Amino acid sequence: MNEEKFTRETVLSVRRWSDTLFSFTLTRPAHFRFSAGQFARIGIEVDGEKIFRAYSVVSSPFAEELEFFSIVVPDGAFTSRLQHLKAGDQLLLEKIPFGFLTLARYQKPLPQDLWLLATGTGLAPFLSMLQDFAPWQQYQQIILAYSVRMPEELAYAEEIKTIAQTFGEGGASFKFLPIVTRPVVPPSDTTLAQRLPTLIENGLLEQHAGLALNPATSHVMLCGNPQMVEDTRNALKARGLTMNRRGEGNIAVENYW
Ligand code: NAP
Repeated sequence: MNEEKFTRETVLSVRRWSDTLFSFTLTRPAHFRFSAGQFARIGIEVDGEKIFRAYSVVSSPFAEELEFFSIVVPDGAFTSRLQHLKAGDQLLLEKIPFGFLTLARYQKPLPQDLWLLATGTGLAPFLSMLQDFAPWQQYQQIILAYSVRMPEELAYAEEIKTIAQTFGEGGASFKFLPIVTRPVVPPSDTTLAQRLPTLIENGLLEQHAGLALNPATSHVMLCGNPQMVEDTRNALKARGLTMNRRGEGNIAVENYW
């Protein structure tokens, strides 16, 4: 890769959520502009070779630092090295972000209810979107559903509450629906423990959201496990929702790996 395409940035902090999940922050160069929901390409140097991976930005487009959320992929060339990251280390950051999972893509239907459905680290782009006043003012209802295998993988659960208090006051009503699909203790009737497509098919997602999915009003964004994205997209299509193309339609998706 051409040296001019990236800059060297400094790791400011590392936060470990579990053995396999961590977040880190980087210095943000003045030229690095992005829309909430976009990806950055982050690089490391291994034996003189540069390896890059795409990471959705967690932080708001207005933040001074750049935050990212990562899983450690077993034996993965990139994340198995990245997991040892510490403050003061340097990473490469491509100058130009990319990706189309942004709220600006929705022209029709007009903003009314926004459903953000994530698995695992696919939560990242939604955290960025929610740390901006615009969606809270544009939408009447926002639903964030976040599916993980084990309870300890529900990273950012506390931060989500704080974000909703900070940005949501006086704006859209907000429901956070954590989903734990492999709980150690059997779930109660009120806890969501099934996969997203099942929760759409059996009506439990809407029941817990207190809102119906509606082709005339709903914007639905999916991000995470590629199989989840495909299965959930099909469940939504079976309910009459359509893919968003050239601004029109309900569903926007991003495969996360
Ligand atoms: P995951 O398998 O993606 O599970 C996270 C959540 O998604 C769980 O609630 C899971 O439910 C659900 N899920 C899985 N398949 C689904 C489907 N078809 N429909 C609906 N929901 C579905 O687990 P993870 O821990 O986030 O990631 C697992 C592996 O993915 C990692 O070990 C890694 O290899 C890979 N990964 C790679 C990258 C990368 O950048 N290369 C990034 C993230 C993850 P169940 O419990 O029912 O399965």
